[in-house]
Amino acid sequence: MALDRLLKGFADFRLGYYREHLDLFEKLATEGQSPKILIIGCADARVDPGILTQTQPGDIFTVRNIAAMVPPAQIPPDQAQHGTSAAIEYAVRGLEVEHVVILGHALCGGIAALVDGSASAAAGYDYLTTWISVARNVRDVAVNDLAGRSREEIVRAVEQASVVNSVANLMGFPWIAERVRAGKLVLHAWWFNLTEGQLYAFNPDTAVFDAVKGIEVTPTVRQGTKLSTIKPERLLLALANKPAF
Ligand SMILES: [Zn+2]
Repeated sequence: MALDRLLKGFADFRLGYYREHLDLFEKLATEGQSPKILIIGCADARVDPGILTQTQPGDIFTVRNIAAMVPPAQIPPDQAQHGTSAAIEYAVRGLEVEHVVILGHALCGGIAALVDGSASAAAGYDYLTTWISVARNVRDVAVNDLAGRSREEIVRAVEQASVVNSVANLMGFPWIAERVRAGKLVLHAWWFNLTEGQLYAFNPDTAVFDAVKGIEVTPTVRQGTKLSTIKPERLLLALANKPAF
């Protein structure tokens, strides 16, 4: 059933979108891809970056993993198979993208598993717990700073702080920090609330996520940004000082 729907969709794509964009596909096939943006999103089926941004083939290079996380750079590199880091490396060093966007989202199962810890149904999985531990420190600080708040509120805080943590981790890759310092690369921490269809972006001045209105957005890290502004602890402190929702 589910697969039928998928194949029907492909048939529709072939007769519709593909035909209507033949020139684009021909250009992409002959000239290759040259996207200017890397989006690191969650594997969650509800938050497809291409659909959310209404982009076309060739526009965005995309990495999707559990909870839209960027692991810390492994320095010196080891022989483990770092799928996310390899995709980031190709986008930055190979394609020379100009923007990297981390796109977290509301109701993220990966972040909920991190918050719930051993109480989570995923606690015994082979790979997942280790993967989401990328943001374990963020979770610990959130649980401490937001003690007494609802689980929903703590999960949301960790969703957003994890995005900031991933941006901070991006700066740990020397070829990213170098390009940011040279003004060639800009980093963004975004969070999408699917229950209201609203996109939010981290504001490094106030340390909270602001609703994105129109086509203006404050970058999280650009040339000259002080690294101290992208600490997830700043966001968690700001949320702790705000009234509960
Ligand atoms: Zn998710």
